[in-house]
Amino acid sequence: MDAGRITDGRLVARNPHAGVPFDDDDAAIAAALEDVSVPTLLCSLVHVTGDPSWIRDVALPHLPSSADFQCGLSHEEQAELRQRALPAIAAYRDAGCEPKELSLDLLVEMMSFLACRPIEGRMADMFIEDMQFEGADSRAVAWGDEVPAAARAASPVVVIGCGESGILAGIRLAQAGLPFVVVEKNPGPGGTWWENSYPGARVDVGSHQYCYSFEPAYHWSQYYCRQPELRAYFERVVEKYGLTPHCRFGTAVDAVTWDEDAAMWRVAVHGPDGTPEVLDARFVISAVGSLNLPHLPRIEGMDDFAGPSFHSSRWPADLDITGKRFALIGAGASGFQIAPSIAPEVEHLSIFQRTAQWMFPNPVYRTDVPPGELWALEHLPFYARWFRFVMTYPGISVGVAPYRFDPTYDDSDGMAISEGNALRRVQLEGWIRSVLDGRDDLIEKSIPDYPASGKRILQDDGFWLRALREPNVDLVRTGIERIVPEGVVTTDGVLHEADVICFATGFKHNDFLQPMEVTGRGGVTLREQWGDEPTAHLGVSVPNFPNLFCMYGPGTNLAHSASLFFHSEFQASLAVEAIHEVLRQGASTIEVRPEAHDTYAEWHQLEISQLVWAHPSIKHSHYKNPVGKVFTLSPWSVDHYWELTRHLQVDDYLVG
Ligand code: NAP
Repeated sequence: MDAGRITDGRLVARNPHAGVPFDDDDAAIAAALEDVSVPTLLCSLVHVTGDPSWIRDVALPHLPSSADFQCGLSHEEQAELRQRALPAIAAYRDAGCEPKELSLDLLVEMMSFLACRPIEGRMADMFIEDMQFEGADSRAVAWGDEVPAAARAASPVVVIGCGESGILAGIRLAQAGLPFVVVEKNPGPGGTWWENSYPGARVDVGSHQYCYSFEPAYHWSQYYCRQPELRAYFERVVEKYGLTPHCRFGTAVDAVTWDEDAAMWRVAVHGPDGTPEVLDARFVISAVGSLNLPHLPRIEGMDDFAGPSFHSSRWPADLDITGKRFALIGAGASGFQIAPSIAPEVEHLSIFQRTAQWMFPNPVYRTDVPPGELWALEHLPFYARWFRFVMTYPGISVGVAPYRFDPTYDDSDGMAISEGNALRRVQLEGWIRSVLDGRDDLIEKSIPDYPASGKRILQDDGFWLRALREPNVDLVRTGIERIVPEGVVTTDGVLHEADVICFATGFKHNDFLQPMEVTGRGGVTLREQWGDEPTAHLGVSVPNFPNLFCMYGPGTNLAHSASLFFHSEFQASLAVEAIHEVLRQGASTIEVRPEAHDTYAEWHQLEISQLVWAHPSIKHSHYKNPVGKVFTLSPWSVDHYWELTRHLQVDDYLVG
């Protein structure tokens, strides 16, 4: 990255989103432009030239989507715009690659151009905060003298988990100048992306939104990149922000206990050699994730199986599956990626799927970002910022409206919850039927019998469905009766012989913060207080558990849109603001008032119970608790949650 320029004798750092200056010749630029998203390019051209006519003279037929980053522009229109762009970009290059300053109003107008409708209010404010056109991390923590150095030094923080949220918490705590340690049970950072290394593991949220807002994101090699690239990303961020000395890898937290007299948390851990230790913390940030406690079904005989068997998140690094008969039990998000990835290598693959899954046809799900677009992301000013918007806005803009039951709609057959949802069924069913054309047996097995989007919708570019057609693949929808040394026996008495079994059976989503024993005021444990109904104020704070903040806590998972990075950034800011409030007041504790928590929890339940994920036709879902209620998911649009968490409402807390 370019270091910047000298202004008034000072080195001014180059805006990290302004693109790396370049000297490519016209032919190379023209070639690169063939690969770009033209609507995104037009926004970048406004930065290049300062001329708003690039966006004012073009009307986009529709919003961007992973199916069409060109927003419906015809090939001729694209070609003409690319041709016009070339001299402007060449002139920019020749003038030293300095983008023009743009007004806030114009930036919002550019958003509205891509959104094909006016963007205003909190949606505009949230995206302006996220996109950081000024080049500074808009959520960076900058405390002043109101928090004396001695107060900071006396306020150690333990962050539990060094995945996406824990790394972010560490970055914010370092900015606040607080002493902190990040305790991580794995030998390295990345959380989910450290643990899940199964064949085909990749993110199913667009990469350019599945990353920190304050980090340039021009490097992703694919639109939905694979696990090794994500793991490397987290390792890089940890290094870049100097977190390594704060991290205790290979160290698991066993118990977190509130010491009332000292107003401190005692965090019992054991390190790689098993040695127990207690860490003292004024504040604890739980960044343990919520989809990492393996759910292994209890199936008769599962310990008798003769070959290797393991959960999908524990894929053995040295496993050779070549020519093996492979039983894949479970086919949700993980199974969908595993099955087509291993089918060509194994002799036979039996996929045991209890419930059919809805999938979204995504043509770029496994596609490399083409070289020209990689060039544009790296070099054209703010192209990567606008591409993040292109990836993110369409999902956020619809919010939860398409997921809401229509009370006037007859949903008694369990197939749809509204007219729009019924239409969605038709579209998604059409995709399944088209790829499985001629295989009525597979079509019958693959069309879900619950409303579209009722479980997490999966991504498919045909990879999964085509794999089902392979001669060495069986999709088994008959229930499993037992496991025997030779394989899996289904309830129809058929033995499906296997050499290896993988349980892609998901995670205990509702069991937040387990298996740690977290004990708050008066000796109450989180497990007792929550039972099967985990709740936290804004997903972050729990009564009786002062100075404890959850990231990715109850009621915050996103089944509808956008990326959890957005939520994590909001939650980290809220937690650090709460800590600031305590230290600014010279106090020791902050705890959510029970009435504030209860009001929020009731509101959350009222909302979530009207959304598709709670529909009674969905019999099995990791979103639901044992009696079918949903405490895992957010019922808010991302911009709404941003508004709710944007500032600490001090009156909702007891500071003491
Ligand atoms: P999952 O989506 O919950 O799928 C689990 C599978 O195991 C389902 O087919 C489920 O059937 C089956 N199963 C569970 N218990 C069973 C039992 N007792 N008998 C038979 N089948 C059983 O789990 P996952 O695939 O691990 O994904 C979990 C979550 O992790 C996802 O929703 C997503 O949020 C995240 N994830 C993301 C990615 C990504 O970004 N690429 C990849 C993997 C996971 P039923 O459907 O009938 O319950």
